[in-house]
Amino acid sequence: MLVTANESTDSSTHLLSVIVPCFNEESVIEAMYQELTFTLAKEHEDYEILFVDDGSRDETLRRLQTIHQADSNARVIALSRNFGHQIAVTAGLEYAAGDVVVVIDADLQDPPSVISDMLALWREGTDIAYGVRTDRAGESGFKVWTAKWFYRLINHLSDVPIPLDTGDFRLMDRKVVDALNAMPERDRFVRGMSAWVGFKQDPVPYSRAPRSAGQTKYPLRSMFRFAIDGILSFSRVPLRMAVYMGLTTSLLSLLGILYALSMRLFTDVWVTGWTLLFIAMLFLGGVQLLFLGVMGEYIGRIYGEVKRRPLYLVREQMGFVKQRQGPEPINPQRDV
Ligand code: UDP
Ligand code: MG
Repeated sequence: MLVTANESTDSSTHLLSVIVPCFNEESVIEAMYQELTFTLAKEHEDYEILFVDDGSRDETLRRLQTIHQADSNARVIALSRNFGHQIAVTAGLEYAAGDVVVVIDADLQDPPSVISDMLALWREGTDIAYGVRTDRAGESGFKVWTAKWFYRLINHLSDVPIPLDTGDFRLMDRKVVDALNAMPERDRFVRGMSAWVGFKQDPVPYSRAPRSAGQTKYPLRSMFRFAIDGILSFSRVPLRMAVYMGLTTSLLSLLGILYALSMRLFTDVWVTGWTLLFIAMLFLGGVQLLFLGVMGEYIGRIYGEVKRRPLYLVREQMGFVKQRQGPEPINPQRDV
């Protein structure tokens, strides 16, 4: 594929798609829309805003409907239930028609004004401009600390380097979006997938604002699940650790065997050692169960993959010229 700079030589405008995943964001969604359009209006590009309503149980969808009725550039995809943040972003990427696509949170933690900096980089030929959080005001010390260590851990374990302290706030060129849409996996860790595709990637530092209203949708349990998902989809290190652990325990047991044999052959205190036996049994039992669990996690993922269910179902679409019919499973054969 011929890769060229993204700036067109004539004065024609591009289409910019902005994807906003929303789950129970009634208190902030209008302010978000206002701020976003304020930024986009300055850019002199055609744009569409794709709000993906991820099965909200509050007034979010009704508010999005009102926004759409007043502004035909605001389109809405309502998923049939809550599928989760990463799937909502995935749905948005499949529906986006733009030459360039931005993913941004609905809660104004990612300042829309940063999109201008991302677009400037894109015009100079960057394919992925990813937001890097320089500080995270208004988030709990615990969240900042766990996030910091999570990004360092995953970067260490993963086969592709995933930039530190990045979220899903990023701009992607059409060729990147096509590549992501053609990736068939069910576990969609979007920021990792976007690092995997390569092309020309550049950071855009920004300071992450506090949530403007409403509650975080990532309580501790979801954060933990998200971290495990990210690590298991991007690394085989946990499996390799089973091998290392197996090697170490085999070596230890060899020493144990030598010790037991020599006690039996050369001394007459060979009946003792109950404590050692007990410790060894518990240790081996624990290690075996732990790695059975790790293997179970990977097998569970394989099970999810082979079922080949659609990733999400759409209940309602607003503002699309061509309405899509029924679920469309991701097709790995699709042309990129
Ligand atoms: N979100 C979503 N589906 C979910 C959870 C979250 O679409 O199941 C959206 C949410 O509306 C927001 C973005 O994902 O736009 C990030 O979520 P949140 O702000 O709660 O996460 P945090 O910033 O606290 O990590
Ligand atoms: Mg947030």
